[in-house]
Amino acid sequence: MSNAKLKNSTTEWRDLDALHHLHPFTDHKSLRASGARVIVKGDGPYIWDSEGHRILDGMAGLWTTNVGYGRAELADAARDQMLELPFYNTFFKTTHPPVIALSKKLAEITPPHINQVFYGSSGSESNDTAIRLIRHYWALKGQPQRHIIISRKNAYHGSTIAAGSMGGMSHVHKHSYPVYDGFRHVMDPYWFGESRDGETPEAFGLRAAKALEDEILAIGPENVAAFAGEPVQGAGGVKIAPDSYWPEVQRIIDKYGILFLADEVITGFGRLGTWFASDYYGLKPNIITFAKAVTSGYLPLSGILIDDKIVDALMGHDDDFNHGYTFSGHPVACAVALKNIEIMEREKLVARVADHGGPAMARMLAKFKDHPLVGEVRSVGMMGAIELVADKRTRRRFDNPGRVGLICRDHFFREGFIMRAVFDTMVCAPPLIWGDEQFAEAERVIRKALDLTLADVAGEIAA
Ligand code: PMP
Repeated sequence: MSNAKLKNSTTEWRDLDALHHLHPFTDHKSLRASGARVIVKGDGPYIWDSEGHRILDGMAGLWTTNVGYGRAELADAARDQMLELPFYNTFFKTTHPPVIALSKKLAEITPPHINQVFYGSSGSESNDTAIRLIRHYWALKGQPQRHIIISRKNAYHGSTIAAGSMGGMSHVHKHSYPVYDGFRHVMDPYWFGESRDGETPEAFGLRAAKALEDEILAIGPENVAAFAGEPVQGAGGVKIAPDSYWPEVQRIIDKYGILFLADEVITGFGRLGTWFASDYYGLKPNIITFAKAVTSGYLPLSGILIDDKIVDALMGHDDDFNHGYTFSGHPVACAVALKNIEIMEREKLVARVADHGGPAMARMLAKFKDHPLVGEVRSVGMMGAIELVADKRTRRRFDNPGRVGLICRDHFFREGFIMRAVFDTMVCAPPLIWGDEQFAEAERVIRKALDLTLADVAGEIAA
């Protein structure tokens, strides 16, 4: 295709997109003015836009394409299953081989006390399912007053009304009119942003965990159904809890006998170098929610992994749990997920994150910690963040949060690289297949983009 033809197509696509497609989480006025970026192809760790630019994908689509793009095996698995049985529901006491095989496989790779799976198609749906199941569990146990779920500020659990309310993002709550009842939000374990002068990460982690216990006591433990948390807050800016936090949170959960929902929609399927972050942190959740990378994003699939204690409560009663989706356990999505997990096992991708990708990410980010714009770099497994600040010494932020992050993100993009800006925190979560070549390329682009951003905001930086 000639350049002229490509350019022409891009304009047409942008115009049609602006006319007919309303995008998620978007400032529609500004998108209409700028036009959308059109992505037309992906292969391995790269994507291509409609003007033929090759782009290194530092966000795995959206924390999703763990095995990378262009896997013919996944397409074949989908095609074969479509021809065999494209759809059948799993209501009314019916099942089918792909959902059985995937459920068995998931039970194998989750902790031993988790053996059952309930399916949906998105992370938001899986969290809605978890919320209903948690409340149903306590009703079955004769304690229906235990309905309050405690989560954290800046948590992201999805965009449906229930999952959005369980999340702790004020800009999501703002559009819920009003926020759904029965959720409380405690401080998130964000040492760089929330610690007091001289407070060690260790002491801060214990203080953040204590916020959970204080809230349980304020509500009355007899009214608390569960604690919900992402093992690493992803969309909130890759916030990694200090080492003291999770053991203390688990101790508090156990002490008050509440349920524990680990939202692993981002951290599931190898991101931290273990199948689930719950393994990485030694957590004992009663429910794990997953989505995204279960299929590496080749088809939508999500679900909740449920422990024996909750399943036993369901089995002890003969009334229905009135909840489900037409596409719960969709056969084609299940077949693709099974093949995706097979690829991850065959290529030892989870161990590769632990042995190679995670350390390489940490080494790469460490090279930027002395840059004048950078307040902190942090990573766990293949999830990393660079905090941009106006004053390195005092951690003072730039005015108008998000402005400098967008400047930096645009420099990344012009250099053929995608990292996401969460306000002024640049976050990275690439496909797990990144090798030395991709880390070297990312390092080069990050250095250049940080320098260009610094030049743009030089007047605002503390001397
Ligand atoms: N939970 C977490 C931790 C997430 O990061 C997300 C999406 N980024 C969701 C839930 C919601 O998933 P979905 O967009 O598939 O509804």
